[in-house]
Amino acid sequence: MLKGKTALVTGSTSGIGLGIAKALAAQGANIVLNGFGDVDGPKAEVAALGVQVAYHGADMSKPAEIEAMMRYAAEQFGRVDILVNNAGIQHVARIENFPPERWDAIIAINLSSAFHATRLALPAMQAAGWGRIINVASVHGLVASAEKAAYVAAKHGVVGLTKVTALENATSGITCNAICPGWVLTPLVQKQVDARAAALGVSNDEAKNRLLGEKEPSLQFTTPEELGALAVFFCSPAANNVRGVAWNMDGGWVAQ
Ligand code: NAD
Repeated sequence: MLKGKTALVTGSTSGIGLGIAKALAAQGANIVLNGFGDVDGPKAEVAALGVQVAYHGADMSKPAEIEAMMRYAAEQFGRVDILVNNAGIQHVARIENFPPERWDAIIAINLSSAFHATRLALPAMQAAGWGRIINVASVHGLVASAEKAAYVAAKHGVVGLTKVTALENATSGITCNAICPGWVLTPLVQKQVDARAAALGVSNDEAKNRLLGEKEPSLQFTTPEELGALAVFFCSPAANNVRGVAWNMDGGWVAQ
């Protein structure tokens, strides 16, 4: 379905971003990966799906590096048809204890990077008359949790940016939508499980059960594969007129 298209997925060396990159690659899209840590493993996983894969290590907190990444993607594949703004980090603390530099980093990586990548991707999409922008927000783009001030503020911002991007391009073939996962067992969440296990003196499995039990009625983690399938749907012709939605995949978290 996506043969001949190019997808750039930020923060795709791990977790949800890698899951979405692989789902788009399975539909034939060439992939530009981004993110830190091991690169060869994720590159090989995507290449095994029979598409071309490139990588740029831009730090998404730095607009000049985002500009370099977008130039690189255009040089490699002509243009970016599908942009997935996924890179994100977390920090958990009450507001009065929240380190200001962590606030700045979360706003830069989780929110401002999506603005920069979007503003740089749109002109080529507009010239082509087709594009898909998918913002990985969170249930925390729709509701709040204590001790996540920067994350909740950034993700609510991402949902707002999604709506504006969708509206400004509403008469074109460019759509923009947000995905709002509940708990997904990636390294980002494993850190929170580990912290909870240590604080309560319980096993890792017990900490996972308590984490799910507090917020997610299904008591199941959403998977990167399920989120990848939703991204593929947003890229499909059936989603041509799905514009500006924030679609939660959260085991009932936001239904409560
Ligand atoms: P993860 O830690 O597994 O992956 C994060 C990715 O972002 C990695 O590839 C990492 O290298 C990259 N990254 C981090 N800082 C970066 C930077 N400055 N520049 C470039 N890349 C950077 O986390 P994840 O759980 O897969 O999270 C992906 C997205 O999904 C995030 O936006 C997160 O907020 C969102 N999300 C996660 C969950 C969850 O439960 N895991 C739930 C809702 C939303």
